[in-house]
Amino acid sequence: MKDDLSDAGFETRAVRFAQQRTHEREHSEAIFMTSSFVFDNAAQAAARFSGQEQGNIYGRFHNPTVRTFEQRLASLEGGESCVATASGMSAILATVIALLQAGDHMVASKSLFGSSIALFDNYLKKFGVEVTYVTLSNVDDWAAAVTPATKMLFAETPSNPLTEVCDIQALADVAHDCGALLVVDNCFCTPAIQRPLEFGADIVIHSATKYLDGQGRALGGAVVGNSDLVGDKIFSFLRTAGPSMSPFNAWIFTRGLETLSLRMKAHSENARLIANWLESHDKIERVYYPGLASHPQYEVANKQHDDSGGIVAFDVVGGQEAAWKVMDSLSLMSITANLGDVKTTITHPTSTTHFRISAEQRAAAGIGDGLLRISAGLESANDLIADLDQALN
Ligand SMILES: *Cc1c(COP(=O)(O)O)cnc(C)c1O
Repeated sequence: MKDDLSDAGFETRAVRFAQQRTHEREHSEAIFMTSSFVFDNAAQAAARFSGQEQGNIYGRFHNPTVRTFEQRLASLEGGESCVATASGMSAILATVIALLQAGDHMVASKSLFGSSIALFDNYLKKFGVEVTYVTLSNVDDWAAAVTPATKMLFAETPSNPLTEVCDIQALADVAHDCGALLVVDNCFCTPAIQRPLEFGADIVIHSATKYLDGQGRALGGAVVGNSDLVGDKIFSFLRTAGPSMSPFNAWIFTRGLETLSLRMKAHSENARLIANWLESHDKIERVYYPGLASHPQYEVANKQHDDSGGIVAFDVVGGQEAAWKVMDSLSLMSITANLGDVKTTITHPTSTTHFRISAEQRAAAGIGDGLLRISAGLESANDLIADLDQALN
């Protein structure tokens, strides 16, 4: 094994990669709560600012605690570079602002996170970037939407909330055939389950708020990719515009990475048990979970995923009224917008996370009024299923 652990196993890197122990010999990673760094003399300050000498300057762009998180996540995703951001949305913002310009065209899936669609439609379009939305799982649809101006394909797989899956390798081919980049939001799987760069994606986006933290404590995001796109272009936007991750949050997310692999196995197991149970319930119209043989992209999911993840969605017979009644009758699961938490959460996408997109767009994405989304936590599966059972009755 190499000294820097770059060839160690996933779990070893998740626990130890890129730790920079100080002279105090702390065992756990230190938190550097400082907004700037001191230079030895005026000449060193000048050398740092001109880029002649590498090293810490100012907290908007350098912090050792944040750097440990960035290097560890980059290693887990198999990327050269990572930049950490204040939230998942600022990771997406930094990516599109840094890599696109007026006149460019982007193809994105209809089934994106609601705020991503709002960001593209309400702000990106304002700066002259056109966006075409296609069906995530239909490669021909993506290929047909490409124009000579297409510079980016943007996918989230599995999607929120329907867990629709795209073939990353096929999309990477479509992107590279036209000289565009493939960006994948890997929030639902995390690198413990899916590493999009291995299938040809150019950039991976994270909302660290979700599974990377895993305990619902802090907001953060990250972008992973090669050193030109991420280490240079996206980092340059970040250091200029400032949606940087706080050192304290980076420390929390580094703790989260240590247990990521174990947690994703446990989330997946609970979600699988819930999905199987729901599938045989007569008040449930349909269950969406990539680990079910009934899932339309079951084969692709099997190829791409090491496990099936913690998100399960299902249509309750009787629309919104029935769905709300189920939610209000639950005693254990939390009604909250977050996902990827140790505590199981449930949401009604139509009236919450996907409220800001039009009814037309929701219908096109297949998000019905009776749809509920569960993010399976780490409670006992028996208790979660008993909670759903009494609520459905
Ligand atoms: C939550 C989420 C985001 C946004 O992340 P924030 O940290 O809330 O800004 C982006 N993409 C997906 C898939 C998400 O679930």
